[in-house]
Parts: sequence; C-alpha cells; structure tokens
Amino acid sequence: MTAKAKIADKATPQVNNEVLEVAVIGAGFSGLGMGIRLKRAGVKNFRVFDKGNDVGGTWRDNTYPGCGCDVKSALYSYSFEPWAEWSNAYAKQGEIHQYIRHCAKKYDMYPYMQFNTEVNGAHYNEADGIWEINTAAGETIRARNVVAAPGPFSEAQMPNISGLDTFKGEKIHTARWDHSIDLKGKRVGLIGTGATGVQVGPAIVDQVKHLTVFQRTANWIMPRLDRDIPEEEKVRYREKPQRMKAARLGNYWLNELTAPFLILKYDLFKSQPEKICRSYLNRKVRDEALKEKLTPTFKFGCKRVLVSSDWYPTMQRDDVSLVTEGISRITEKGIVTADGVEHELDVIIFATGYVVRKTGAPMPIIGRNKQDLNTKWSEGAEAYQGIATADFPNLYFLVGPFTGPGHTSVIAYSEAQIDYVWQAVEFRRQRGLKSISVKPSVEAKFVKTMDARSEHTVWKSGCESWYLSPNGRNNTLYPGFNAEYRMRIARFNPADYELKNTQDKTVRASVADQLSTGLLALKTV
Ligand code: NAP
Repeated sequence: MTAKAKIADKATPQVNNEVLEVAVIGAGFSGLGMGIRLKRAGVKNFRVFDKGNDVGGTWRDNTYPGCGCDVKSALYSYSFEPWAEWSNAYAKQGEIHQYIRHCAKKYDMYPYMQFNTEVNGAHYNEADGIWEINTAAGETIRARNVVAAPGPFSEAQMPNISGLDTFKGEKIHTARWDHSIDLKGKRVGLIGTGATGVQVGPAIVDQVKHLTVFQRTANWIMPRLDRDIPEEEKVRYREKPQRMKAARLGNYWLNELTAPFLILKYDLFKSQPEKICRSYLNRKVRDEALKEKLTPTFKFGCKRVLVSSDWYPTMQRDDVSLVTEGISRITEKGIVTADGVEHELDVIIFATGYVVRKTGAPMPIIGRNKQDLNTKWSEGAEAYQGIATADFPNLYFLVGPFTGPGHTSVIAYSEAQIDYVWQAVEFRRQRGLKSISVKPSVEAKFVKTMDARSEHTVWKSGCESWYLSPNGRNNTLYPGFNAEYRMRIARFNPADYELKNTQDKTVRASVADQLSTGLLALKTV
C-alpha cells in the first residue's frame, strides 16, 4: 500500500494542500491508460485513484469461472503494448488482469496509484479553477483537471425477486465470485443468460450434479472461433512485434466491417447476421422444442450479441435443464417458477448483470454555478464527444455517454479519448488558462447528431437493454464507425470550448491556438 493509501485509510478528514495537475478516477484499462499517457508526455504531478487494491477494474473484480473477453486479445489490449504471451485468441480474465498489471509495472505506474480510495464526490471551486475531490475516508484531493474513468460495471445487480433472503443454500453473484464455495456435486441454479451467464454455465457444468438455467430472454449467439496460440507463434511475435501490430490492425478492420449491421437503417444489412445466428442454432440444436426456447424474439444486435461455442452443447446435456417459465419467488429450498414447480437447489448463481447508471451522475459532482451533474443528467447522460459536458470545466470522462463499443473493442474508444484529453490538459497548461468548458451549443449539436443517428440503429428496434435510458434513448453506444469517431476527436479544437484566463475573462481561441493544438494532435499520432 502506498503512503497515500495509508493516509486515505484514516477516518479523520484530511485536506491535502497539494494541487495535482490531473486526478484520474479509476485504475481500469482506461484510467491506467490515461496515467501512462500523462507519464509518457512528461506530466509527473498526477495520481490515479481506485477503490480496489490493484489495477484492473472489472478484470480485477470479475473472477467467475469462464470469465473472458468477447473481443480478440490482439485488439483487447493497448495499441502501444502488444503482448506475445496471450494463450488464446480470446483471453480469459486471469490473463487480461495479468496483462494490465504487466503494463502498470512496465510503465512504472504503481507510484502514481492510490488504491483503497473510494471517491465519493467532487466539486468545482470556481474561484480557483480547481476541483476538490472527496474520498470515503474523508480526504480532500485538489486537482486542476479531473478524468473520470469509473467504468460501467463496478456494482453487482441483484434481482428484486421475492423471498431472495429466505434461501437456505449459497447465493453467489458472478461479479463477486466466492471461491470458497464448492460446487462439486451440488444442484446449482443459474439466473441470467447474458454475456456472463453463457460463460459461467459451461465452465461449471462438469463439476455440478445438476445445472438448472433460468432464462428470461434468449439471446442471439455467434460461435466463438477461439484457438490456442502455440509457442512457435508466440516466439514469432516476440521476435517481431510488428506482427502483433498487423494482427491488431486486421482484427480492427474486420470488426469495423461489422458496424453497418448495427448502425445502418437498411434491413438488408441488419438481417444478414441474424441468418448466421439462426443457421448456427439450427446446426447445433436438433430438438425443436429446445431450439424454440433458445430462439430470440428481438432483432439481432438489439441486446448484446453473445459469442459462445459451448452454450448450445451445454443446454443439451442430460444434467442441464433450461427453464423458461418465469421466476415467481425464491424459497428456503430453491426457486418457484410461474408453472408452480419448485426447483430445489443447493446454490443459486446470479449472472444478473450490473447496476448500470442510465441516468444521473456516477457520483455527486457539482460544477460551475453549483450545477449538479445528477440533475443535469437526470434524463440520461450527455457529453460532447462523450468526454466533456458544459458547466463542468476541466472535467473529462473516458468511455462516457454515447461512446461505448457496439461492435469493437472498448480500448479503441478509450485510447482515442485519452489522446484528446491529454491535448486538452496540455493546451490549458500551455495557455495558462483557468478553465476550459465545452460550449453548450457545441455539446447540444453533438447530442442532436447522436440522437438522430441512434434512431437508425438496431439498439432502438424495440427490445429492453442496458444501452437505453428509461425514456428509450441510446446514451450508451457510439452510433457509428470507430474509425470515424477517432477522426472526429483526433484534434482537440479549442474553438469548441469556452476559455477563461486567470482573471476570469473569456478569451477566444486564436489562430495560434489552432496551430498549437494541431501540433499537439500530431504528437499523439
Ligand atoms: P446482463 O447483460 O445485464 O444480463 C443479465 C441477465 O440476467 C439477463 O439474461 C437478464 O434477463 C437476466 N436477469 C436479470 N434479472 C432477472 C430476473 N429478475 N429474473 C430472471 N432473469 C433476470 O449482464 P451480464 O451478462 O453480466 O453482462 C453485462 C455486460 O457486461 C455485457 O453486456 C457486456 O458488455 C459485459 N460483459 C462482457 C463480457 C465480454 O466477453 N467482454 C463478458 C461478460 C460481460 P433479460 O435479458 O431478460 O433482462
């Protein structure tokens, strides 16, 4: 534990007089990447805060059996740090976490980390142009710029099912797997058949006596074309790292080619992948009744498309039952479904997802003129380029509103944002500005574009998903190609922002400013 972390553990309020150049909240892929970027650019006065005890975010916390990534490792890794050690084309959680730790060590990031520090709010001190960040331990951290990278998947979602607390057996949520619970020979119930459910079920089925899967909604599934990476291939990668870069590029453009299936309004595009999934299901499942249960009733891509080659085989085992009658209640002994059957169980696994904040701020954040971000985002989060929101100067989000990945790696979005944020921070420093805050008109225009484009996407084709806010808006995924988004934010344009000097006077972005940000953009290429 660092000295700072020890300070944070004390319960007495501490005001830290040090003013950081940048405070990064979250040490997952995005927050760590931001830290590495700052350090490589020569910024020393920054710190990355995380409530956990290590880097890794969701890949540190999710340790359930079978946990892995649906994006190939060649692309689900930093572009600047290709890794020759991946065991499989699609990496598992342990290796991804190992990779993130490797990056933190290689780039000497641990001295910049403050772990066991839960940030529970921030407010903008308008007089000084400085953010004051409060931690759960009572510390106040001051920073000129804040980068929020909390990630969407930090809080486990337990379903609201009556009788949940009466169950006498063991309950496990996948997001907080309890490795002390032995599943061997047990009657296990699995609630949830999303991206997590289809990974955990096949991974535990060989240990358990019987697996009962409670499916509320069947999902579209693509086969997972995984393969072991042999030692000879790893040697070739180690010898010539550019081969890994080429593999990354290949994967990137293959994924880009799939974007039209999700974002374009033409049915011709949208119906093709559905046909592939149907044919995969037809080939893998012979029993007509089971096939019907496993056939989704919504359009391909409306909910997250799953990637699994072992889900359908698992569903056909004699020691597995797929129950599609809804859950009525949980009892001392197990789960009662709508048909009145009580399924007796020893363990219930909840693969029921995360508390994904569709409205409001990720934490209490008070900006200029005492604006509360929670109020501003009460009908859904909005931010220019998914990064900055008006009246919250010098504050940036990574993988914020509208910039989740629909068809490719989240890292393809966050790396582009990291470069943009660094340019903003550097521009402000070079110009000696008190604040930069996106112009409301610029933000509104961007949001309008996102809304208009989202109308044509499959995400708005009528199903319920965590992508949509309660009013049915997509504020989560980027309704476009990643390559287009990267071009869009390749250069930080100061004309999009309201610039204030240290006398609190608004200044215009000059031609020299445009030139200097052009140079900064070139430095990030
Ligand atoms: P999820 O997509 O939210 O799925 C939750 C599942 O639980 C759904 O099947 C849902 O059914 C079911 N459920 C929730 N409440 C229920 C209830 N009361 N009764 C019965 N069923 C209930 O959560 P997730 O599978 O953990 O995935 C969340 C996200 O994490 C994914 O979309 C993905 O972005 C990410 N993830 C990624 C990977 C990867 O490979 N990269 C792996 C795992 C997760 P309904 O569909 O009917 O709501």
